[in-house]
Amino acid sequence: MSGLFSAAFLQGIGWDVDVYERSSVELVGRGAGITVHPELVEALEASGAGTRDLGVEVHKRIAIDRDGRITAERSLRQTLTSWDRLQRLLRETIDEAHYHLGCTFARVDQDGRGVRVQFADGVVESGDILIGGDGIRSRVRAQMAPQLQPVYAGYFIWRGAPNEADLAPETLRDVFPVFTFHLPERQQVIGYPIAGLDNDLRAGRRRYNFIWYRVADAARLRDMYVDEKGVQHDYSVPPPLVRRDLIAAMREDARAILPPALLDCLAKIRQPFFTPIYDFAAPGIVFGRVAMVGDAAANARPHMGFGMAKAGGDAQALATALRDHDDIDAALRAYNAERQPIGNRIVAHGRRLGTHLGVDLKTEEDRRMHALLQSDGAMLDWIAVPNFLR
Ligand SMILES: Cc1cc2nc3c(=O)[nH]c(=O)nc-3n(C[C@H](O)[C@H](O)[C@H](O)COP(=O)(O)OP(=O)(O)OC[C@H]3O[C@@H](n4cnc5c(N)ncnc54)[C@H](O)[C@@H]3O)c2cc1C
Repeated sequence: MSGLFSAAFLQGIGWDVDVYERSSVELVGRGAGITVHPELVEALEASGAGTRDLGVEVHKRIAIDRDGRITAERSLRQTLTSWDRLQRLLRETIDEAHYHLGCTFARVDQDGRGVRVQFADGVVESGDILIGGDGIRSRVRAQMAPQLQPVYAGYFIWRGAPNEADLAPETLRDVFPVFTFHLPERQQVIGYPIAGLDNDLRAGRRRYNFIWYRVADAARLRDMYVDEKGVQHDYSVPPPLVRRDLIAAMREDARAILPPALLDCLAKIRQPFFTPIYDFAAPGIVFGRVAMVGDAAANARPHMGFGMAKAGGDAQALATALRDHDDIDAALRAYNAERQPIGNRIVAHGRRLGTHLGVDLKTEEDRRMHALLQSDGAMLDWIAVPNFLR
């Protein structure tokens, strides 16, 4: 997404841009829910991608207890979109001839005037700059700053998106139309409506984005990375291969923990999968003629739902700097000066919000924040709210 944003913004200032994507097929059907913040709307509009049919609107957020009773409530109008929708909007800004599937970055060499990039299949391309928008496990960053490694936060999430049409009438009435939180000790269950397949926004065709945060130490996570066939993975298990005993144990726990409406949502997820939470911040996001953007530059825990907005903001700032400076190196330095501290701030804020889960509380400030977030109302005020950077 940060790669597409970068291409869109750079095209806008008259640069020739090519996007190289590792996947050999178009990236569709990923389906994850995305909270829309004002900064994301601004970046989508400014990049030319636009915001048409962006998502589902909710008007309030609630917290509920085990019996489904509302314990806190806030009016807050928010649009919830999906990864698919954003990808489609941004993808349409790039001409076919400049979007290359099946190109895995292997290494970059630079000589002060430009870059020479080699792909895994041996193809070599040259350019003025390389923009690394290749995500949290960035190969570009691994070459430029191998010491920077994402850090496991000590918790992971179970996820899935059941179809609206499968949910019970009480679920549709009580939680489907709103941003819902359920907050047992050291856990968070969060849900909100998103578009259905092919961005279907019609009632009855939408889905419900379901997220359940659970604490697990590194050894337990390592065990969870062993898939149904007994293969050990390093960072994630493809959803169809998540072990059945893990899913069964999770569903068993859910029966003792979740309120009926959220239990219904979980029951209707055919293939739940999990995502471990990692983060890292970088002391620099520019390495000569190589500039990092999005998750590859800095990756925050997802409590603010701000990753897409940051990807758009990084790309916009990079293009603005290149537009405003005659000298490319001065422009990249200006980009680094503007966005590296913002990445740090976002990562720090994610850690602050993560204290809710009570993992590794090191400082007095951590413990103060953890205590504050034990109130359901405080969580509604702090999690995935707009304008937190201000
Ligand atoms: C659980 C969870 C919930 C989230 N919720 C939200 C939310 O509500 N709102 C929000 O804004 N953000 C959210 N995010 C964050 C958001 O998904 C990311 O910030 C966003 O996807 C960043 O995009 P990116 O382009 O930088 O990286 P990525 O989306 O990771 O994209 C990297 C791309 O690079 C490609 N690639 C990787 N390696 C290579 C290589 N060697 N060569 C070529 N291509 C390569 C990949 O195939 C991929 O297409 C969430 C994240 C998680 C984990």
